Amino acid sequence: MTDWSQTHILNNLRRCTRCTLPETHETIVFDEEGVCNICRQHEFKKTNIDWEKKKVELNELADNYRGKGAYDCIVPFSGGKDSTFTLWYIIKKLNLKPLVVSFDHGFYRPINLENNERTQRKLGVDFLKLRSDWKIVRKLMLESLDRKGDFDWHAHVGTFAYPMQIAVKFQTPLVFWGEPSSEYTAYYGYDSEEEVDERRNSRLNNLGITAEDMVGFLGDEVTLRDLQPYVYPKLKDLQDLKVRSVPLGSYIPWNVKEQYEIIKKELDWKGIRVEGVPPQFPYEKTEYQLQGPRDYLKFIKRGYARVTHLTSIEIWNNRMTRDEAVDLIEKYEGKRPSSLVYLLKILGIDENDWKKIAITHSIPPYQHDFLNEETEDPLPDMEQWEHNPC
Ligand SMILES: [Zn+2]
Repeated sequence: MTDWSQTHILNNLRRCTRCTLPETHETIVFDEEGVCNICRQHEFKKTNIDWEKKKVELNELADNYRGKGAYDCIVPFSGGKDSTFTLWYIIKKLNLKPLVVSFDHGFYRPINLENNERTQRKLGVDFLKLRSDWKIVRKLMLESLDRKGDFDWHAHVGTFAYPMQIAVKFQTPLVFWGEPSSEYTAYYGYDSEEEVDERRNSRLNNLGITAEDMVGFLGDEVTLRDLQPYVYPKLKDLQDLKVRSVPLGSYIPWNVKEQYEIIKKELDWKGIRVEGVPPQFPYEKTEYQLQGPRDYLKFIKRGYARVTHLTSIEIWNNRMTRDEAVDLIEKYEGKRPSSLVYLLKILGIDENDWKKIAITHSIPPYQHDFLNEETEDPLPDMEQWEHNPC
């Protein structure tokens, strides 16, 4: 018998009886046992996918593109655990020569830059980075926070559009991403092919706002020329190039814990504390200064954040019980991050404005209580961040 009372612990949201994802999670549906569709997708991943066959397909894909142009493929790269593992795998296991492409959103942490330097030297790669205009970034952040309750439009969109622009410019038709979205949402199941194309981009990354839309929103202040890093390439250019843009995780079973052990050993990759992340996950989102505020904003809107996500992954991989997950969520999730002050300076708003905007984007039935919040200790490297927003 299902114990339904267990599904309503943690701020009264209905939660999956197997993992802890709540009813406010995007694309979630519960079946008659109270188990969510993301859990069912993971069952499918474990039992119905012939990973040996997928690996053969991956090797065929690599064979088809190896040695044809200046580069065999593009690897979009932030230097976080996923793109670092992907780059290592592409070079060491698939023997491909990549062009490593990075969109710099302006908020990389010092440890990330050190990791990148080490990774690139150890692997020996050509590396291309574009840092977008800081003044434009600040405008985009406030506009997207106001409209969508998400200040990261520029990071989401630049990260996906810029490597595709480079694929077209260098006429390199193969683009390798890392983690498949079917790990944690149901936009694409493990039973369907996931191409990282414009359709996926508008479902998962751009919050339904293209660069062209954004120019309209910002009025006379900016033109499309100012937003070049955010413009997705023309469909015709991508079709002419016959571009294949795929997550590596569609071909090999994605196992973050194992992959972290590999990059630690092979590349001396290092993690660091992230706000709202328990110490058992030293590899999670270590690259981004604003990860704490990003997850906190998600919590204000939806009543859950990264600990729920991380512990669900542990449950799917049989490494944690649901009760252990609930303990970690209660202990670490939803605190006010110290770095919020840093973000507010960049946005040019105060904390009351922040609360007002965040609350208008709430997903019912969740209602956030600002009164009983705890604030997290500052991060060890915060002093080194650029504190002058100008
Ligand atoms: Zn579930």
